[in-house]
Amino acid sequence: MTTAADAITIPANLLPSDGRFGSGPSKVRLESVEALAAVGGNYLGTSHRQPTVRNVVGQARRGLAELFNLPDGYEVLLGNGGSTSFWDAASFGLIERKSQHVAIGEFSSKCAAVMAAAPHLDSPDVITTAPGLAPVGNHADSSIDTYCFPHNETSTGVMCTVARPAGAEGLVMVDATSGAGGLRVDPSQFDVYYFAPQKCFAGDGGIWLALCSPAAVERIERIKATKRWVPASLDLTTALAQSRLDQTYNTPALATLFLLAHQVEWMVSKGGLEWCANRCDTSAATIYEWADAHVLASPFVVESARSHVTATIDFDDSIDALVLAKVLRANGILDVDSYRKLGRNQLRIALFPAIEPADIATLTKAIDHTIQHLLP
Ligand SMILES: *Cc1c(COP(=O)(O)O)cnc(C)c1O
Repeated sequence: MTTAADAITIPANLLPSDGRFGSGPSKVRLESVEALAAVGGNYLGTSHRQPTVRNVVGQARRGLAELFNLPDGYEVLLGNGGSTSFWDAASFGLIERKSQHVAIGEFSSKCAAVMAAAPHLDSPDVITTAPGLAPVGNHADSSIDTYCFPHNETSTGVMCTVARPAGAEGLVMVDATSGAGGLRVDPSQFDVYYFAPQKCFAGDGGIWLALCSPAAVERIERIKATKRWVPASLDLTTALAQSRLDQTYNTPALATLFLLAHQVEWMVSKGGLEWCANRCDTSAATIYEWADAHVLASPFVVESARSHVTATIDFDDSIDALVLAKVLRANGILDVDSYRKLGRNQLRIALFPAIEPADIATLTKAIDHTIQHLLP
């Protein structure tokens, strides 16, 4: 017997302990918010040029170096504006002439589009794979100085392996916005690994972070020396100099920095990247095994490329995923809607480290309950 969507109440024992499953902004742990509130009186509203704030930035930078086990000479850069601003900064300060891009969804395509629009760069090579399929990777080409690909394409739930293309000499620049902190990575395989705190780092948006190899730092300095015009706020030599002082060029969001430092500390204290990745593996196994076994659901992505940080699940036509997401939202389960532009009958569920694997298991039960009541 079909129940009207707005009359479906999911029983309390089928509700996750936290209802936030969005892929960004994503769940922020309440402990982080409480820790922020506790320093509210002497941290928020104080100068970002003074030790109180700079110590927090330093703590985040050192914590990230530890979390990713960065080799000597790698540096943690940060700046205002999120990963989208980093694309613009990279178009001025990292790409020398020509980049090559793996474009497998909205975000990786946007990165390629930024480089394509830059009048001072050659048209990039763009290697496209349809959403959901195993990505065709970069390949060495002597005309390319920077190879770009996403660690995780958040719009489709496809993940890539971070590896230098065989024989390639250019820099490897990885969009790790939603992969960093949840997926394993070997720093020797990248030169620039950039991200923002609102995905695996369970924080708030508005800043970018970039783990840079010595070769990337050298590139940043060399391009600057060519006198290419660079907008001041996007100048990576400024970001480099400011980051080394645990500062930013202009005023950062202090709450965002605190939440980042606090979450990185939590991730390191729990056991580092391996612990985080194991947690995401557990959540991924739960959601994909459930979908594989389901008569009305199936994982969207081919098995070899299925993301362990953002799961995309297709539904049979007898279930309207928009209605499903609406019912879940009305019951406090938030932001599981699919990426709109993908246009599929789908839910997208974040599996980030801050999300309890047990909550992913409970979520599948809440979805099952809802489906039963929606079916004719
Ligand atoms: C979220 C996301 C971005 C954009 O990040 P902003 O901080 O909002 O600019 C870019 N790339 C990927 C892969 C993302 O998931």
